[in-house]
Amino acid sequence: MVQQGQIDHLLQETGSIDPPAHVASQATLQDYEATYRRAAEDPEAFWAGVASELEWFKPWDKVFQWDYPTFQWFLGGQCNITYNCLDRHLNTPNKNKAAFIWLGEDGEERVFTYGRLAQLVNRFANGLKSLGVGKGDRVVIYMPLTPEGAIAMLACARIGAVHSVVYAGFSVGSLRDRILDAQAKVLITGDAGYRRGNRVDLKGIADEAVQGLDVLQHVIVWRREDEKPPLGPKEVDFDDLLNSGDIDCPAEVMEAEDPLYILYTSGTTGKPKGVQHVHGGYMVGTYYHFKTFWDIKDNDVFWCTSDIGWVVGHSYIVYAPLIAGATTVFREGAPDYPGPHVFYEIIEKYGVNVIFTAPTLVRMLMRYGEEHPQNYNLRSLRFLTCAGEPLNPEAQKWAYEYICGNGEWAYLVDNWWQTETGGPCLGTLANMTSKPGRVGKPLPGAELDIVDREGQPIEEPDKGGILIIRKPFPHFFRTVYGDPDRYAENWNTIPGVYFTGDVALRDADGYYMVVGRADDVLNVAGHRIGSAEVESALVSHPAVAEAAVIGKPDELRGESIKGFVTLRVGNDPSDRMISDLQLHVRQELGPIAVPSEIEFTPTLPKTRSGKIMRRLLKAQELGLDPGDITTLEE
Ligand code: AMP
Repeated sequence: MVQQGQIDHLLQETGSIDPPAHVASQATLQDYEATYRRAAEDPEAFWAGVASELEWFKPWDKVFQWDYPTFQWFLGGQCNITYNCLDRHLNTPNKNKAAFIWLGEDGEERVFTYGRLAQLVNRFANGLKSLGVGKGDRVVIYMPLTPEGAIAMLACARIGAVHSVVYAGFSVGSLRDRILDAQAKVLITGDAGYRRGNRVDLKGIADEAVQGLDVLQHVIVWRREDEKPPLGPKEVDFDDLLNSGDIDCPAEVMEAEDPLYILYTSGTTGKPKGVQHVHGGYMVGTYYHFKTFWDIKDNDVFWCTSDIGWVVGHSYIVYAPLIAGATTVFREGAPDYPGPHVFYEIIEKYGVNVIFTAPTLVRMLMRYGEEHPQNYNLRSLRFLTCAGEPLNPEAQKWAYEYICGNGEWAYLVDNWWQTETGGPCLGTLANMTSKPGRVGKPLPGAELDIVDREGQPIEEPDKGGILIIRKPFPHFFRTVYGDPDRYAENWNTIPGVYFTGDVALRDADGYYMVVGRADDVLNVAGHRIGSAEVESALVSHPAVAEAAVIGKPDELRGESIKGFVTLRVGNDPSDRMISDLQLHVRQELGPIAVPSEIEFTPTLPKTRSGKIMRRLLKAQELGLDPGDITTLEE
């Protein structure tokens, strides 16, 4: 929830940064205005043009059909996203080009060419088939950030199975809920992940999560450690399955609208929503933005610091870079472990040209100081992009100065999107002036606006309102898995448009600033967490009667979580109780959802209808006048 006192400082003029001449002159998308207009005037011709750059088994009969609030793109077209990720490169010089450069926290490096990756995906896809997995079956992937995680995703897509990746930082409750909601037939997991030199016992978490779940027929375990404990009755070894499969597995012919994946994200209720994307439109749209927004050239090395557990990792570690034939670096573990130098060391060592990262990482690097970037040659860098949460001007300016060489070699910009949009909607292009504190302008194909609660456009510059999307583009999500009504809610909150849940404003130059959420969703280090999810985790502890959580501004993580808890009779507040509750949330949801502060209170403020007033708690906590709460919030 955004409150007025919180945004005033953001509105201060923070100047502008022009793109370095060499970056602007080689930008793929030279004429933003004309391209934007072309896409807005005839979106069907625009997206059909992009789609025809890719391979289809059968061309579409109709580009777009809107049966509000549902819609379809490329109707009658047949394709498979993995054919575009892999097969189409195999008769070109890309076959021997590095597709993935994977790095481990301990310095391990594994490189996969397109040819090798295609073989491994085919083998594993055949392995999945041998277990009876086929088109439409749901497969949950709970894997560390490794090539095997990406191979598992691609293998599912190859045979038409629908993957649902669960971030390996989530815990027992989150994993179990997602397996159940998707009614998954198979779980693919690993024995361990590594972070900050610690071992994360993924298999132990998975074992607990699947207890008594009859729906699961198989659990495939990737065992990377030397010690290989015996497998249980439903369990299959990942490598055995991979090695037993043939290297040929033709891509299943998919309808353009067939589901590709489900990815759960937080909403305003306690139940995460399964955002569903499709093969056809998703490959077209994510590819378009990879080429035009990330501005990737054939010889570039691209590094995406996200994880396959998030939409950014789906679109920009796995799918779009492979469709475009790029070389992508990704790395397991913490970005400042074993030390704050690793980020810069990797750029120098691999000659990274383009980076996709998050503001929280930039703020962390800023905190470690400029002596680290100064120790490395970062001149390979050309373009750095951030998304996930507001990029604060201080962090942007620091990174521009010390990582981009003050524009001598690189440029740094912001972009905005969500799990639902599959790819970016707002951004500053490589040849566009950047205004720190502002994300940028609507990207071609995305029609955004700022409206009031009744849907009336807010034309006045710098006046806050709800960020909405007017029309669905090809890579927009199609539904909430198993819950079409919840999907429709997004299009009915403000009738006629898609409600993003964000509060934004637009300045006189047409630049958007995304300020924060209009609803009870938190953003911790760029990760979306529902207040209601944390509250229900707290309330599931036997000592808790009621709970409310709010987000508090946090210098490093954007927001931190504070919980207000009333205890059941017979339980007393204590430090021990606080750590018990924190541990409980960690167990249920995972470390990112743990409240950093917990306050015990005899009652919680409520409306007459009994709804807990989180807004009031937040205003009190931040020392704002509760009467100062603007109409921006619910
Ligand atoms: P997710 O679906 O987890 O990717 O989270 C999407 C949410 O993150 C958006 O609705 C915004 O609240 C926030 N977000 C993403 N990118 C930005 C950005 N560049 N500036 C401000 N907020 C952002």
